[in-house]
Amino acid sequence: MAAKTFDLIVIGAGPGGYVAAIRGAQLGLKVAVVEREHLGGICLNWGCIPTKALLRSAEVFHLMERAKEFGLSADKIGYDIDAVVKRSRGVAKQLSGGVGHLLKKNKVTVIMGEATLPAKGKVSVKTEKGSEELEAKNIILATGARARTLPGLEADGDLVWTYKHALNPPRMPKKLLVIGSGAIGIEFASFFNTLGADTTVVEVMDRVLPVEDAEISAFAKKQFVKQGMKIMEKSMVKQLDRAAGKVTAHIETGGKVEKMEFDTVISAVGIVGNVEGLGLEALGVKLDRTHVVVDEYCRTGIEGLFAIGDIAGAPWLAHKASHEGVMVAELIAGQKPHPVRPESIAGCTYCQPQVASVGYTEAKAKELGYDIKVGRFPFIGNGKAIALGEPEGMIKTVFDAKTGELLGAHMVGAEVTELIQGYVIGRTLETTEAELMNTVFPHPTLSEMMHESVLDAYGRAIHF
Ligand SMILES: Cc1cc2nc3c(=O)[nH]c(=O)nc-3n(C[C@H](O)[C@H](O)[C@H](O)COP(=O)(O)OP(=O)(O)OC[C@H]3O[C@@H](n4cnc5c(N)ncnc54)[C@H](O)[C@@H]3O)c2cc1C
Repeated sequence: MAAKTFDLIVIGAGPGGYVAAIRGAQLGLKVAVVEREHLGGICLNWGCIPTKALLRSAEVFHLMERAKEFGLSADKIGYDIDAVVKRSRGVAKQLSGGVGHLLKKNKVTVIMGEATLPAKGKVSVKTEKGSEELEAKNIILATGARARTLPGLEADGDLVWTYKHALNPPRMPKKLLVIGSGAIGIEFASFFNTLGADTTVVEVMDRVLPVEDAEISAFAKKQFVKQGMKIMEKSMVKQLDRAAGKVTAHIETGGKVEKMEFDTVISAVGIVGNVEGLGLEALGVKLDRTHVVVDEYCRTGIEGLFAIGDIAGAPWLAHKASHEGVMVAELIAGQKPHPVRPESIAGCTYCQPQVASVGYTEAKAKELGYDIKVGRFPFIGNGKAIALGEPEGMIKTVFDAKTGELLGAHMVGAEVTELIQGYVIGRTLETTEAELMNTVFPHPTLSEMMHESVLDAYGRAIHF
């Protein structure tokens, strides 16, 4: 049978792939997207969305426990973990279905099956019914990533979990060990700890949330410890001994090994790109460990072959994947898009308290040789934060002292994952301190702290 021909074939329907497909179709391209498992990828099915649904249940539970503080009463507060998970899975399902609807609306051909690239410009898809051969001048690889495993710490779905098991857990952990304190590890630690699991987090680096500004990490750690989490930094899980219903972890800190018992372990030690089995080596695609090497326009070096999202490397974020998808589709359609600037992509962690940041940390800005001005503002100085009962948090801003450019913004506290976008827009517009100071922020809002932090960098904060 003759191969079906398209202008663009996208492999993988995660937030990178499905968005690239829709943008390509909007621009008049004949587009096919191939997906082997679920529309929406990890993000909608096993990542961003179902974790936020779980965390919302934990947040509501936490607020109910605090009912008295707000003059309310709530007796016999409890939860049903199966119902909490059911809600999360329902939210994921709803959104995955929504992606199918959007692709259909945009006349994108969806082919469910496993894709390989037998030659340049060719895609072979193994479907339930057999195989389909496709051709296109342009192909986008958007096959994403999966959980990284370390020898001896492999997940088994019972005692040791990856994020997938943790999202659909066989039970509520009583004594939980989380290995790794990046966004994924800390979000699960926060969720299970809030629901009452005795939670220990082990981090090999010298602080939790190690990519964040050091002051923000320290602030967040203090809150986690206050909530009852045990945090072990500069520590490494060397071995897990599994027995019926329990795991003994050998945890090394400063050369000393401590043995600790848990009923559940979540391994959150990073991700690896889905580069295998596609035929990339035969095509001459360059790989860096498990990621495809790309230039600023996501070009692989093979004509007409692009890679976007998690498979193309850090930052491993859905919005980075989607933005790259739009950029590449526009490039293919003959437009002149701007390359994606990683330093203007915000990172958000939806633990309690939330953490969000964009741009350079204070240490990075110094390392790059900037003469800097730093502003800080605490939640305790903000009327809305007090009214919400959320007085713990801070907003830190870093400016280039010479030009006034906003180099970075770092936040910890309630709703900061919603606030950060204000600074992201500022960075995209190459805003300086002057425009930020001249912006009128509505009162009473948490966003006023963003203003105050800028003012503080220049010695002008009003409310602290
Ligand atoms: C627990 C967790 C929480 C997260 N939370 C957030 C968050 O809050 N915010 C955020 O920005 N990011 C978050 N992420 C990261 C986010 O999920 C990823 O950055 C994002 O999904 C990457 O999108 P992608 O399109 O590159 O790949 P993916 O979403 O991984 O999609 C790739 C798709 O390709 C398909 N595929 C792979 N190989 C083939 C093949 N050969 N043929 C056909 N199809 C194939 C896969 O089935 C998959 O559907 C989280 C991740 C996890 C694990």
